Amino acid sequence: MGYLRIAIDGPAGAGKSTVAKEVARRLGILYVDTGAMYRGVAWLSVEYRVQVADEEGLLQLLSAHKLTFARGQSGSFEVSADGVVITHLLRSVEVSERVSELSAHPRVREILTERQRQLSHCESVVMDGRDIGTVVMPDADYKFFLTADLAERARRRHAELEAKGFRGSLAQLRETIAARDRRDSNRSVAPLVKARDAIEIDSTGKTVAEVCDEILRVLGRD
Ligand code: C5P
Repeated sequence: MGYLRIAIDGPAGAGKSTVAKEVARRLGILYVDTGAMYRGVAWLSVEYRVQVADEEGLLQLLSAHKLTFARGQSGSFEVSADGVVITHLLRSVEVSERVSELSAHPRVREILTERQRQLSHCESVVMDGRDIGTVVMPDADYKFFLTADLAERARRRHAELEAKGFRGSLAQLRETIAARDRRDSNRSVAPLVKARDAIEIDSTGKTVAEVCDEILRVLGRD
């Protein structure tokens, strides 16, 4: 039997990770957070002081250090650098501010895209990101494009960061998210765009459970 492959794309803070993780949990399959993979590279660049504009430097960083990805506790997606878990460090403001410039480099994308495809070839997955339905798994069984108002996305991300102990103003976060969306949507390689055959879900005013129910209904698993 073939593997079930579900793609969830959308802008920053639309709730993709939370929803994708919950859908994967309900289906009992692997959740792959591709944003965390790009964030892992951004974290390495902070740690080893490589400029995000320096694609060669980033590629060297990726060959000198081992980024590994695994199923974490309670179905989370875990990222390690040289054997040390760094998942909890990936949402910092520093990493968030660097990640979309870095993810515009074609050769960095090539490496991560390949790793993402490998993960989807080994078992059933729910994968979230920006280019999953368009580039990474264009033949996914189901594709969703998750959106929400910018104000609501900023509020959600703010609450999530506060819960993790990070501090920052809501207005500033809103600006960072908007800037990241602009960069992600306008880059020449694998931009953030809704796949033609993706189902769009606007999660504004909806709970995580409501959005998951909607997805599972489409899958015929409700
Ligand atoms: O999903 P998350 O907000 O963690 O993603 C962080 C960043 O990683 C995005 O803003 C985007 O620049 C990049 N990204 C990407 N392609 C993906 C997933 C994330 O370019 N498939």
